[in-house]
Amino acid sequence: MQPMNRTMIAPCGMNCGLCSAYQRKVKRCGGCHGEDSTKPVYCVSCVIKNCPTIQSNASGFCYDCKTYPCRRLKNLDARYTRKYHMSMLQNLEAIKKNGIDAFVKAEAKRWACRNCGTTICVHQHMCPACKTMIAD
Ligand code: SF4
Ligand code: SF4
Ligand SMILES: [Zn+2]
Repeated sequence: MQPMNRTMIAPCGMNCGLCSAYQRKVKRCGGCHGEDSTKPVYCVSCVIKNCPTIQSNASGFCYDCKTYPCRRLKNLDARYTRKYHMSMLQNLEAIKKNGIDAFVKAEAKRWACRNCGTTICVHQHMCPACKTMIAD
């Protein structure tokens, strides 16, 4: 399992370290900041990653944008909150308030499997190593 670090946090607030595409062993995605050749099509063509504003703002995160949170980000956040119990907007607020390093540290603790310590998969709602389900 790869260690969690700041390069895994996408501009939208997604922690790519929790993604099933990042955690799989075959054709592993390198995360939003990684090479496009390793990503699924929907992340290569992501409207947030490709947003002109995000590519020119100071922090590299959506919270620095004048129209934050835009409709696209709100839609993504609503879908993730509903399906995966994880909020991009909450993540972004935490990064803005406490900084990226504190956020990554808190994420490592929040998403550690309570049984073996491996990072939980947010999409499957369980530990990829020992298959323990995440506690709701
Ligand atoms: S598939 Fe998308 S969300 Fe998942 S790790 Fe790759 S870039 Fe991140
Ligand atoms: S919040 Fe701003 S920077 Fe982020 S995707 Fe929307 S318009 Fe682009
Ligand atoms: Zn486990």
